[in-house]
Amino acid sequence: QQVTHYVAVSRDITRRKQSEQEIHQLAFYDPLTRLPNRRLLLDRLQQSTAVSARNDRHGALIFLDLDNFKAINDTQGHAVGDRLLIEAAHRLQLCMREGDTVARLGGDEFVVVLEDLSSGADYAATQAEQVAEKIQRELGQAYVLGSFECISTASIGISLFLGHRESLDNLLKHADTAMYQAKTAGRNTIRFYDPAMQAALEARIELEGELRQALNKQQLRLYYQVQVDHLHRPLGAEVLLRWDHHKRGLVSPAEFIPLAEETGLIVLIGLWALQTACAQLRAWQYDALTRELTLAVNVSAKQFRQADFVSQVQRVLQQSGAKPSLLKLELTESTVLENVEDTIARMRELKLLGVGFSMDDFGTGYSSLQYLKRLPLDQIKIDRSFVRDIASDPNDAAIVKTIIAMADALGLDVIAEGVETEAQREFLGRHGCHAFQGYLFGRPVPVGQFEEGLRR
Ligand code: C2E
Ligand code: CA
Ligand code: CA
Repeated sequence: QQVTHYVAVSRDITRRKQSEQEIHQLAFYDPLTRLPNRRLLLDRLQQSTAVSARNDRHGALIFLDLDNFKAINDTQGHAVGDRLLIEAAHRLQLCMREGDTVARLGGDEFVVVLEDLSSGADYAATQAEQVAEKIQRELGQAYVLGSFECISTASIGISLFLGHRESLDNLLKHADTAMYQAKTAGRNTIRFYDPAMQAALEARIELEGELRQALNKQQLRLYYQVQVDHLHRPLGAEVLLRWDHHKRGLVSPAEFIPLAEETGLIVLIGLWALQTACAQLRAWQYDALTRELTLAVNVSAKQFRQADFVSQVQRVLQQSGAKPSLLKLELTESTVLENVEDTIARMRELKLLGVGFSMDDFGTGYSSLQYLKRLPLDQIKIDRSFVRDIASDPNDAAIVKTIIAMADALGLDVIAEGVETEAQREFLGRHGCHAFQGYLFGRPVPVGQFEEGLRR
């Protein structure tokens, strides 16, 4: 009898739990997309502002509205409209990191809460904007809804928050206002609530447009920074990009390479650098002074992962007539680590062509001996952050010694970058590093000046 009693109770609990769950679902989630509804959004936003206050890090509220929803819904019917919303909700979720919230406010309005952005407002704005751009891209792809195909871009407004400076209502209002401005500005647009951030966004977009033109207008330059051996004899150079901007003068790659990477322009720019370097190698073949010099060319991840990267390099080598053994490609640890198997396969193919590899900025990433010994590298380049404090910071000194010993054990060359003082050079030399690059030997200069330096 007791047993029967138990069964009855447990069933009862299950059912109650189920209906509690249903009530919770109804109260906090949108039944169509299953995203959090306005109530849960406010709750999460409350939490996010609390977290932001505690960590002193920014968060962002992204308000978005589908540009063509109304027209599609009116002409194609609600069933198609519903499917569009479900698909849009799905795509939005793909853009989120853990801890972010996507909610549906109703209609075709969605709100995203980003947590844990930078403490600095400028960088936080860039981070939020990157997510917004990703959303813009994802939502801008064509929708296939049964037999109906359509495009429905989004208008996106962003406002940042830090702690509890603003009420939740105001935060939502700001993002909504920004979204409305995006819509007025011509749809498929991103707008910041803060005018200063909006100005920064516009400056960036302008720079992006100009960078697109830079190649056509022949505004890109290659500078050559000498690499030397222990007797200061030149071994070759690393080529470094400069952008000769008509108003700003020479723009540093630190400023435009990240932009070029985001926009994919790096693929064309990188190819240009490779072609220019190879043409130079070829031209140097006629002079005994330069015949043996190598050139190191930086290759960014996006470029390296191009499906046809290997054949691009092969073509450039053939067309220029450069000797492959004089070409050295610099890859960073993060590039290599992105997909180790694919990296190894590509490197092997390139090695077959005769090209060499140097691991750039070594020590700043997450290298492990595991993969390091599997990569067909020729050289490791000690990052300049370790070289800088080599004489004063025992940790850096120890790291550098370890890197050199490890390179030795793996049978790899090692070069130090950012060598500025005789003390640094001496320390490196004493511990077995015999190739150097840095201001002590020469700054990056145009090729004419580089050649003059050789003759001296
Ligand atoms: P990186 O590959 O680590 O290049 C070395 C950077 O250190 C260069 O900055 C160089 O000018 C600087 N440097 C050299 N010697 C010294 C020194 O003694 N002291 C100090 N403080 N700095 C030194 P740069 O030319 O501004 O280049 C910055 C970064 O831009 C490069 O870092 C590289 O990541 C990227 N970059 C440059 N050219 C290209 C390119 O053609 N393709 C790609 N993908 N990236 C490039
Ligand atoms: Ca480099
Ligand atoms: Ca480097």
